Amino acid sequence: MKKPKLRELGEAVKALLRGPATIKFPAEPYVPPDSFRGKPKYYVDDCIGCKACAEVCPSQCIEVVDDTAADPPVRRLAVHYGACIFCGQCELYCTTEKGIRLSTEFDLTTFNRAECLEPVEKELVLCEVCGAVIGCRDHLLWVAERIGAKRYANPTLILLADGELGLVGEQTPRDPSRPLSRSDTMRVLCPTCRRATVLREVWGP
Ligand code: SF4
Ligand code: SF4
Repeated sequence: MKKPKLRELGEAVKALLRGPATIKFPAEPYVPPDSFRGKPKYYVDDCIGCKACAEVCPSQCIEVVDDTAADPPVRRLAVHYGACIFCGQCELYCTTEKGIRLSTEFDLTTFNRAECLEPVEKELVLCEVCGAVIGCRDHLLWVAERIGAKRYANPTLILLADGELGLVGEQTPRDPSRPLSRSDTMRVLCPTCRRATVLREVWGP
């Protein structure tokens, strides 16, 4: 029989002194390291509802539903973490860098996959003329803050950002039977309706 090498003997003695490397979970609680990639969690104050996380999710487990009939209209995002592969792409590419983060939560066992939902809800801004989705209010305000004075080139951003500061009052509701006119340029409009308003103003009906 070959004699054991000294290095292996040393390892065996160390392992004996260290005790077992395995853990006793679930009999004893386990605290994973901070870098552990567990259940993704939304942070409602830092999420702006831009849905970039859903666009980059490789398993397409982030559902986005725009409910324009709700009052106020809302965008609902939900991670179906039963189909999540915990890759961290949503966290990596989050526009604000802190709207969604992978937590250290790992014990996600359930009998009902429909329960595996991590939702967030953000208010939507709709075009005053056609009702098309322009974006989430928080997203538009985030853009307005980032671009500073340049927002004064876009009436939608002016109305939202200055409205937030209390500098713009309530808009008079638009009479839908009236054709688009110059006064409509100072309304919250989608790009298509803004273009139609400007063209009508410049070229006529
Ligand atoms: S802010 Fe981040 S978490 Fe929120 S929708 Fe955008 S990418 Fe997703
Ligand atoms: S961790 Fe990966 S799979 Fe899971 S929600 Fe984020 S992007 Fe999608």
